[in-house]
Amino acid sequence: PLSATDLIEPQRICVCVRKRPLNKQEVNKKEIDVVSVPGKGALLVHEPKQKVDLTKYLDNQVFHFDYSFDETATNELVYKFTAKPLVQSIFEGGMATCFAYGQTGSGKTHTMGGDFAGKQQNSAKGIYALAAQDVFAYLNHRRYANLDLSAYVSFFEIYNGKVYDLLHKKAKLRVLEDDRQQVQVVGLEEVCVSSAEENVTSPCQTSANANSSRSHAILQIVLRRNDRATTLHGKFSLVDLAGNERGTDVSSNDRSTLVETAEINRSLLALKECIRSLGKNSDHIPFRMSTLTKVLRDSFIGEKSRTCMIAMVSPGMASCEYTMNTLRYANRAG
Ligand code: ADP
Ligand code: MG
Repeated sequence: PLSATDLIEPQRICVCVRKRPLNKQEVNKKEIDVVSVPGKGALLVHEPKQKVDLTKYLDNQVFHFDYSFDETATNELVYKFTAKPLVQSIFEGGMATCFAYGQTGSGKTHTMGGDFAGKQQNSAKGIYALAAQDVFAYLNHRRYANLDLSAYVSFFEIYNGKVYDLLHKKAKLRVLEDDRQQVQVVGLEEVCVSSAEENVTSPCQTSANANSSRSHAILQIVLRRNDRATTLHGKFSLVDLAGNERGTDVSSNDRSTLVETAEINRSLLALKECIRSLGKNSDHIPFRMSTLTKVLRDSFIGEKSRTCMIAMVSPGMASCEYTMNTLRYANRAG
């Protein structure tokens, strides 16, 4: 397993993969685990060569990432290697972004929002809560005291290219780009959070659980300068992306489902293009390609921007095709 010494300096882009354990239903169905994590950044998919006899011959295929997490990894461990190293960057005036990518059921919401399936008191915290905790710790740190910062939280979803405020009755909001190319979600509720005791992310966790797999959910922790008319200082965007199932995989002729799927594909493609341009230090970032990339425009600009993508995979043979799609996507994004 990964240890503290494996932690590398945060790069502009970090791409990781997380494999979840087989769940009860899968175990009951005698589902075969076709994903292994043989090393620190490696992931192996034993793809069946013959569709008929799935167990007889396994074709091994290895993918490489900055970090790979196997089914024993906790949310805390994943957080430590992915979002945690980015917290400092927002205090230094940067924009940080962490994406959870993968098929529905692969563990995106579990990773971001935490495990609330059992609704126990001590459910595993997700990256939302862990990042908020660290932001507060930094806020109270001597080193940043002279900046006179306040933290604000907003939470919204993008469904079919439209923005809905999850902290304000799902109000539909407009996205505007002004003549200085600043992108704004007009009227987005920002809740000021003044202390670590305030459990700011709990309403977010609740709605994260009810969150549709067909929408992108975005939690933003925004730092503003009190002494400078609350101008933006840094921003951390934590994004639980819509499931990456493809249109042809959805067994529905329902027109609205097809439109939905087309929109998801378009936005995920746009995201890949933007991350790729960012990685190449390209001047041109095609952020206008989708609402998702438009509202995250800040994430793709500036020297201090840091992006982390966690690609989630299900371990089962039945998910093999989705898993391969996810790994190919993540491979190209990095
Ligand atoms: P997604 O948001 O990608 O659709 P979820 O996060 O809702 O997937 O996960 C699907 C199910 O699998 C949930 O019941 C969740 O609790 C469980 N699960 C996901 N990842 C893990 C994990 N790493 N360990 C244990 N259970 C997990
Ligand atoms: Mg989900």
